[in-house]
Amino acid sequence: MRILISGAAGFLGSNLAQRFLHEGHGVVGVDNLVTGSPENVAFLQEFSGFQFIQHDVSTPLYIRGAVDVVLHFASPASPVDYLELPIQTLKVGALGTHNMLGLALAKGATFLLASTSEVYGDPEVHPQPETYRGRVDPVGPRGVYDEAKRFAEAMSMAYHRHHGLDTRIVRIFNTYGPRMRPGDGRVVSNFLVQALRGEALTVYGDGSQTRSFCHVDDLVDGIQRLLHSDLHDPVNLGNPREFTILELANTIRRLLANEVTVEFRPLPTDDPKVRQPDISRARTELGWEPGIDLEEGLRRTIPYFRRLVREEDARARPLT
Ligand code: NAD
Ligand code: UDP
Repeated sequence: MRILISGAAGFLGSNLAQRFLHEGHGVVGVDNLVTGSPENVAFLQEFSGFQFIQHDVSTPLYIRGAVDVVLHFASPASPVDYLELPIQTLKVGALGTHNMLGLALAKGATFLLASTSEVYGDPEVHPQPETYRGRVDPVGPRGVYDEAKRFAEAMSMAYHRHHGLDTRIVRIFNTYGPRMRPGDGRVVSNFLVQALRGEALTVYGDGSQTRSFCHVDDLVDGIQRLLHSDLHDPVNLGNPREFTILELANTIRRLLANEVTVEFRPLPTDDPKVRQPDISRARTELGWEPGIDLEEGLRRTIPYFRRLVREEDARARPLT
């Protein structure tokens, strides 16, 4: 297959690209590098089946030749990033999704949208099944991301119903692993980098809010299963084991045998108090559930961040 991945220089896009390239598929990676990393692109360029196009998908994209699958992953994803880039986030969720759907339609390709648990906002239903319609403040600061993704889902379903396009929608819950940007501001990358540097872990609020953390290898398995299914309705993919943020901080301190302290900071506006996927649909329809628990997933992720922190420290040291 020839697979186009928007957001291929990002965390999830580059992990997906790597998996498909390993399996012998061709990958066209499209990214404007707004939150992605050139290091991820350099890594993928070692595969002969990889082609990179630097492009903002909020503007139309024309590709020569056949495309079998379009995976639309382009979008700032960390709250720190999308609060800094509110207009770009709305544009890539709306115009970017429209352009990628148009490309898929023109090529007769299958289209898969990377949606998010944020479509549920700060939920009143817990855990969240796909049938829950969410509690999002459209004019709150996080609305730029949440509403862009909700629009993207509506647009994908419209292309499916109106044009008969073969579409999939994955609602991704907090995922972590190698090739996250160390400075992306998300909790796992922040805590690991802070702990490896011997700095205090920045816990927002009192740390009692919860998240459910999925290792990227499990997520990529689930996305591949979804792609090979015929499910057009949204599917939650995430690890249903729920942790408070303080539990996450303590797990990281224990794994790194690290004495770092915790520093409490204000809770960002509209920060969801709980988040846990109901993955019944993925279990029954895809035969999928995550197999990597938090400790194992963190163990697999620590060497990547350790290398980046060492390289950064070496660059910062004055030459003697
Ligand atoms: P990321 O920031 O690492 O990657 C996003 C990539 O998209 C970056 O390389 C960025 O440069 C690129 N991009 C952004 N706007 C673009 C544009 N206009 N044109 C071209 N490229 C653009 O984030 P990620 O964690 O890899 O997230 C990937 C996708 O998965 C996003 O759509 C995000 O909403 C979704 N998602 C991720 C998570 C998670 O936990 N990682 C959870 C829910 C949803
Ligand atoms: N968080 C934290 N310290 C950090 C970064 C994040 O306590 O340094 C909290 C954040 O307030 C949220 C949770 O960790 O409650 C997950 O945040 P993240 O940005 O990873 O993703 P979100 O689930 O909010 O999109």
